[in-house]
Amino acid sequence: MTNTMKVFKFGGASVKDADAIRNVANIIKRYPDEKIMIVVSAMGKTTNALEKVVEAYSKKTGEAFALLEEVKQNHYKVATELFGADHPVFSLLNDTFVEIEWVIEDDQQDGYDYIYDQIVSIGEMASTRMLAAFLVHEQQKASWLDVRDVIRTDDTFREGRVDWETTGSLCQQKIPGLFEKNDLIVTQGFIGGTQENFTTTLGREGSDYSAAILAFQLNAESLSIWKDVPGILTGDPRLFENVQKIDRLSYKEAIEMTYYGAKVIHPKTIKPLENKNIPLYVKSFVDPDGEGTLISTDVNVTYPPVVVVEPKQVLLHISTRDFSFVTERHLGFLFQQFDKYRIKINMMQNMAISFTVCVTERSERLALLISELEKEFKLVVDRNLELITVRHYTDEIVESLAGGKIILFEEYIRGTMSMVVKEVPKMIRK
Ligand code: ADP
Ligand code: ASP
Ligand code: MG
Repeated sequence: MTNTMKVFKFGGASVKDADAIRNVANIIKRYPDEKIMIVVSAMGKTTNALEKVVEAYSKKTGEAFALLEEVKQNHYKVATELFGADHPVFSLLNDTFVEIEWVIEDDQQDGYDYIYDQIVSIGEMASTRMLAAFLVHEQQKASWLDVRDVIRTDDTFREGRVDWETTGSLCQQKIPGLFEKNDLIVTQGFIGGTQENFTTTLGREGSDYSAAILAFQLNAESLSIWKDVPGILTGDPRLFENVQKIDRLSYKEAIEMTYYGAKVIHPKTIKPLENKNIPLYVKSFVDPDGEGTLISTDVNVTYPPVVVVEPKQVLLHISTRDFSFVTERHLGFLFQQFDKYRIKINMMQNMAISFTVCVTERSERLALLISELEKEFKLVVDRNLELITVRHYTDEIVESLAGGKIILFEEYIRGTMSMVVKEVPKMIRK
């Protein structure tokens, strides 16, 4: 495999409209004669819009076609702005959308998660058609690749698990030939294909992970993820005023940040890159001259405090019904249940007759887990909480974050502080 290829990933915000797509093309033109695998998300908020189509179809509200029509029209509008009224991309987009029209014309027989993947994946199919066509229109040597032909997953719909070995051989078979004829290959993030040729998705926000899978399989020289922020910051700029860019991060630090819920990169992205020592750049598509953040091995820096806020937290206080101690046997059973319902434990604490766990609200699966646990234990459930984690904390920052909140649960482990908090209801004096 060529060892001079790079992988770029462009998220939804970077391809949200015609101007954004022109901007992406301009960024790519800054790398003439380079071989680049370009992994793209659905345009703007298309995935959310397609989720609404799935909801409407499965609840038979009668609105599925109208909702899909909106998504189609939005794509046609962008295509018209980029290409004018007549261009082969229109029939490619049309073929893409016809596939879901066939699905939603029929009465539902298949499982929800399967239907979800067949419908929602169309967002990435359409955005990549658009970008590939636009790059060709701009005289770039670009071609389009159906990622379902190279990323093989099992059939866990909505959370496809990658078959690394088969994906590796499919990538070796299909991609070098394409790079012989083209400099640029445009393909979809977020989706994969099963052995039976069904489409799967890798979990919401999974395009970063797709890019890392391809970087790993192609032994890319680097992966660049282009975002609407200058790089990785000390906190989410939507939540905090005075955040700073972190210039360099180790893989370990990045994996910890994403584990605690930093929304800037998908948590599964780092491992494949670390395993092959592939540097990850997080860069700004608004300011492509900016240095961004470089994530790599052996970083020797002192990190500033980094804050991660996870909303929608739930505390489960689980206790024995007969006042007996919580033993290893109980814990074994509890962990099995969390695993069975695929609920990740964000924080936990074991006390004499109770066990407290903090998890993220995931309505359907969490409700099932709770009813299962209630068969054996007494449960008190506290909802609408926030989990705030500070890596490299200082007392000052913890104090300012906790200010005015009730702390229900806190933990300090080697430089990392986590607390589950509740807003104090405002008392307004008469
Ligand atoms: P994409 O377009 O690739 O899907 P996302 O919107 O998922 O991009 O991720 C970028 C967003 O992540 C930023 O706009 C920012 O609000 C948010 N974010 C959360 N935490 C951080 C952080 N520590 N550093 C930078 N951005 C962050
Ligand atoms: N389009 C998908 C989503 O919005 C995947 C991604 O953007 O990473 O979740
Ligand atoms: Mg995203």
